[in-house]
Amino acid sequence: MASIFSKIVAGEIPAYKVAETTGFLAFLDINPLAEGHVLVIPKKEVDELFDLDDETYTGLQIFAKIVATGMKKVLPCKRIGVTVIGLEVPHAHIHLIPINGVNDMNFTKPKLKFTPEEFSATAEKIKAALRTTEG
Ligand code: 5GP
Repeated sequence: MASIFSKIVAGEIPAYKVAETTGFLAFLDINPLAEGHVLVIPKKEVDELFDLDDETYTGLQIFAKIVATGMKKVLPCKRIGVTVIGLEVPHAHIHLIPINGVNDMNFTKPKLKFTPEEFSATAEKIKAALRTTEG
């Protein structure tokens, strides 16, 4: 059965997309730890990150770098935290989380709630930053 992320890739369920290439997609996590918590995924459905073929793996890391660079420009944070968990969705993904301290990466904390308008505004902000991000 297709993963929930493959359904997002196929357009069968909605997501607040921030960046897309032929092979990769970045969108807002629906249960975020911070405003602008982004997931980057390969469109190809593979469960575990380290099972990706080398080309997809390195492509995903480069895509994550581009997205994180755009995020850093427009989200108030000290760093973009990077983590891989994958216990909930069996489709390789990297979490990019704007952080000001290590506790902002604590996945046991209650998740934040945003309205659709707030999610859209955050996604637009990141997209605008990416339009002006070089390399
Ligand atoms: P993990 O697999 O890394 O443990 O967690 C999966 C992440 O995907 C969670 O942070 C969760 O909030 C997010 N997530 C799960 N289902 C959806 C969904 O349908 N849409 C979006 N945008 N995020 C999701």
